[in-house]
Amino acid sequence: MTLDVAIIGSGFGGLGAAVRLRQAGITNFSIFERASEVGGTWHENTYPGCRCDVKSTLYSFSFAPNPSWSNTYSYQPEIFAYLRNIANEYQLREVIKFEDEVLDISFDSTSRLWRITTQHGVAEARHVILAAGGLAEPRLPDIEGIESFAGPIMHTAKWRDDVVLDDKRVAVIGTGASAIQVIPQIAASVRHLSILQRTPPWILPHMGHAVRKRTQLLFRFIPFSQQLNRFYVYWRNELMVLGFVKDPSKMKIAEQQSRLFLESQITDPQLRESLTPHYRLGCKRVLISNDYYPSLRRDNVALVTSPITGIEPEGVRTSDGTLHKVDVLISATGFYVTDNPIGERVHGARGEALATAFRGTMSNYRGTMFPDFPNLFMLGGPNTALGHSSIVFMLESQLNYVVEALKKALRQNALIEPTQSAADEWTAMLQSKLPSTVWGTGCASWYLNERGINTTIWPDFTFRFRKATRHFQLRDHHVTR
Ligand code: NAP
Repeated sequence: MTLDVAIIGSGFGGLGAAVRLRQAGITNFSIFERASEVGGTWHENTYPGCRCDVKSTLYSFSFAPNPSWSNTYSYQPEIFAYLRNIANEYQLREVIKFEDEVLDISFDSTSRLWRITTQHGVAEARHVILAAGGLAEPRLPDIEGIESFAGPIMHTAKWRDDVVLDDKRVAVIGTGASAIQVIPQIAASVRHLSILQRTPPWILPHMGHAVRKRTQLLFRFIPFSQQLNRFYVYWRNELMVLGFVKDPSKMKIAEQQSRLFLESQITDPQLRESLTPHYRLGCKRVLISNDYYPSLRRDNVALVTSPITGIEPEGVRTSDGTLHKVDVLISATGFYVTDNPIGERVHGARGEALATAFRGTMSNYRGTMFPDFPNLFMLGGPNTALGHSSIVFMLESQLNYVVEALKKALRQNALIEPTQSAADEWTAMLQSKLPSTVWGTGCASWYLNERGINTTIWPDFTFRFRKATRHFQLRDHHVTR
């Protein structure tokens, strides 16, 4: 049977799409999920301390508020449970094909259908919603000799509970969002911890706290109170755009706050200097933590700033000649984002791979559609990620557009794709804005592709993206019946 829609992935994007399709009366769809459970990145990342740095009242679907969040910034188990509940409540499990990884998605111009080749067979669909996620493919560092390491190596996104860390010598490579969450959790129990830092992150105090029972009751019995809270959190976050986008020099205020925070937590002047960033705050993702710096004060923890030159069976060698002997290596080195391998598996009407969109050589339309990729929609597409607010808001914005376009295409049995000029105009608009933002101030970040082009971040207020995706704009598309 030909599907009306094939959804790829069952994280926030895929589940949100499924709910919205059902609400629109579109029921002939399947979700292809390579894992054995829903949740995407929140299923995969189970390292100790894993937590979202966006407040939960905003980092959740507008149509499914959760009055029971136990912390203002939830930990992974609760977010994962939230997504499992969505799958159960909306009876989505019946349409999910678990453990069925997508190997290829190609448009067949003769049948005018998308052919989806998975581990277990081939499916055909009139439309594809690609919701595979931007932080889905863990990146191990490309360090000489890594394969020779004698002990276990684990990436934070592939945490292994069977690897014992207690009383072991452990090294963590990286000091990004994942590293600063996991380090405080393991520092006390390991024998020795070497933290291999390449670039110090900017860190601000974490304002998270447990949600009181009476607030949960208020949210449950007066849902409007939680909506008000969400509204407040949303607008507070939007204010940050003034610094991130409009005038990056404003970030000096937050830099000063971060320096004072560092000074209050680290007294050793040399360690303080090693932890002080020398790039504009916001250029890389801003981190929040109250327990990362204190964990560096421990006697069994060492911050290593000499660059890594190689990995040997016994440990990590740095450029000062030291061999840091370790039993376990933890790689907190992030993800393939602009070079996400899924992009190489999706081919449009002319055979071109979707990966080109992230290389910055193919235009996109509102981060969601691409010329020559008829009836294919990408959630979390180019320049839809955020440095200041909730990606769920962006996904829901995209879904407004996707559902309208899909209804039109299904009603008319049509192929819809953006015109080249509309896509070029959108992409040029973004790329003209980005250089003057904080992300263009000259640091190396995962927001930039290998050519230094920012194909990940949305450089504006999120309400502008919501407006741009509110309705399907017929004039910007070719509709072929
Ligand atoms: P990341 O931000 O990309 O950090 C990777 C770290 O590894 C950086 O410190 C990087 O150093 C270092 N690194 C990479 N390759 C290296 C190498 N070959 N040698 C030495 N160091 C190397 O990755 P992440 O911490 O997993 O976070 C990725 C994204 O996931 C975040 O930005 C965020 O969007 C999301 N996340 C969010 C949360 C949350 O609280 N919501 C938690 C975890 C992750 P350089 O800085 O020098 O490149």
